Amino acid sequence: MSEIREVLAKNAFKFNKRFGQNFITDTNLLDAIVSDAEIGKDDVVLEIGPGAGTLTARLARAAGKVVAYEIDENLRPVLSETLEDSKNAEVVFKDVAKAKDEEILEKVGTKYKLVANLPYYITTPVIMRFIECENKPESITVMVQKEVGDRLVAKAGSAEYGAITAAVRLEGDAEITRIVNRRMFYPVPNVDSCVVTIKMNDRYDSEDKQKVKKLIRAAFAMRRKTLANNLSSMLGISKENAAKAIENAGFSADIRGETLDVDDFVNLSKFI
Ligand code: SAM
Repeated sequence: MSEIREVLAKNAFKFNKRFGQNFITDTNLLDAIVSDAEIGKDDVVLEIGPGAGTLTARLARAAGKVVAYEIDENLRPVLSETLEDSKNAEVVFKDVAKAKDEEILEKVGTKYKLVANLPYYITTPVIMRFIECENKPESITVMVQKEVGDRLVAKAGSAEYGAITAAVRLEGDAEITRIVNRRMFYPVPNVDSCVVTIKMNDRYDSEDKQKVKKLIRAAFAMRRKTLANNLSSMLGISKENAAKAIENAGFSADIRGETLDVDDFVNLSKFI
């Protein structure tokens, strides 16, 4: 804790609320994230939001190479100090949303792992981008708000289960690897967090996936509506045809979308 405060104070760093800057102060947690991400010497790591560089330095020690995107230019002096000995770490000062997929491909290649402790308001878009992009990482290890973590690993039919759960499950297996108390950050945020690791897989055929993605989006469009109603209004098919497809796939015509897991959506997509 004092180590990070010292380096920030020495460089007269001012926290910018806009960038969601809550830095991890617990060194055991930093080591645990590297271990959860299963980083080894052959790995290339794409880190988003290195902050003061405490996680970046540990990632660099464990990995072959680290490329980190940081939006805040004011962290330049802090990062040059904390990453002085991390010769295999490159920091790109840029909003990751402005880095095109081709740029990232050029920096990290086709085999890389994504690690990020991000502001909570961009976590979901970042997860969705890297889950759905062409050059997918092998795994994604992210710090998320506890409630978001619960949603990512939720079972079909539960209150937490939603479009994001199904969309992520279509591409990989998500697991909460640890719960993180808010006091492990400086400044202390208003919420508790957890680390989620998503290991990507090729379980589903990519052509099927395009169809299933559309189906999932439609199924969760209005939570109070039945699946047949959602499919009818979102996919532009008649309610009768939607109900028939649902029954042909082996479900009752009046079910709700949130009761179907990803295998069910894949099955249903064959009848739409
Ligand atoms: N990784 C550090 C840690 O764990 O202590 C810092 C985490 S802090 C929650 C989030 C970091 O992401 C900040 O350094 C912030 O400036 C950076 N950041 C915010 N938005 C970003 C964006 N769009 N692109 C890249 N970095 C961003």
